[in-house]
Amino acid sequence: MKTALITGGASGIGKACVIRMAREGYGVVVADVNMAATEALVQELTGEGLAAIAVHMDVSSEQEVEAGFDRMMEAYGSCDLVMSNAGIQIVHPFDEYPFADWKKMMAIHADGAFLVARAAFRRMKAGGKGGRIVFTGSVQSFVGSKLKEPYNFAKHGVAGLAKAVAREGAEYGIYTYTICPSFIKTPLVEKQIPEQARDLGISEEEVVKNIMLRDTVDGQFTTVEDVADMLAFLANDKGALTGQSLRLTHGWAMM
Ligand code: NAD
Repeated sequence: MKTALITGGASGIGKACVIRMAREGYGVVVADVNMAATEALVQELTGEGLAAIAVHMDVSSEQEVEAGFDRMMEAYGSCDLVMSNAGIQIVHPFDEYPFADWKKMMAIHADGAFLVARAAFRRMKAGGKGGRIVFTGSVQSFVGSKLKEPYNFAKHGVAGLAKAVAREGAEYGIYTYTICPSFIKTPLVEKQIPEQARDLGISEEEVVKNIMLRDTVDGQFTTVEDVADMLAFLANDKGALTGQSLRLTHGWAMM
């Protein structure tokens, strides 16, 4: 059985990807800090006869990341697909951005991506049969956004990390990708709408229409299913797309 570990797997994009890969026949590892949601999802999947385990993994903790991957190897004996997806958002005007919040963003987005990708790379290299590491980037991996300097910094960074790891991983059959969605209505985004309205002094409707969807060609949100479809597609890529960033942005920031 092929296996997939997805961080931030208990909610939003990660949850949709967990469900998709479990239904594709993968043994999944739901890695998250929200254990109530993680265990509920695992119960739902195992109730359908699918293979799933829960691990508490704070992606900013080297010890928890390594222990979570050890648990994956113990349960399934293989590490085939890993999605570094856990994330948070903290918005503030740049001149008021607290250093403590910058550090929190870096711990989860930058340290987390490094620790998860390195843990995956170690197991895939040792396993001798390659694997795929997928980062959740964003349209913010290409453009800049008001109030989101740390997020922009980190999301540009993960796309670079994927490119470098693609070079080093090639000889071991380890392929890497960055999936870059535009706005998707998940809890992470629902929370930002009133916060941005407050910080920018505009209405919530204006945040959605004039900020979140303004630069798309059709005024549409991307969906968690769009990302899950792309992940399932990449799970079968034989290296043609390694190192690439895949933009699921409804025309925002076309290449
Ligand atoms: P979400 O809030 O629905 O889910 C995030 C999950 O990450 C939650 O289950 C949370 O418990 C978990 N998490 C938070 N901190 C963690 C940590 N330290 N260790 C492990 N897990 C942790 O958010 P989402 O919208 O599904 O976002 C998932 C990823 O997608 C993030 O990296 C986000 O930046 C990115 N993204 C989101 C959008 C969007 O519009 N929603 C667009 C582009 C990229």
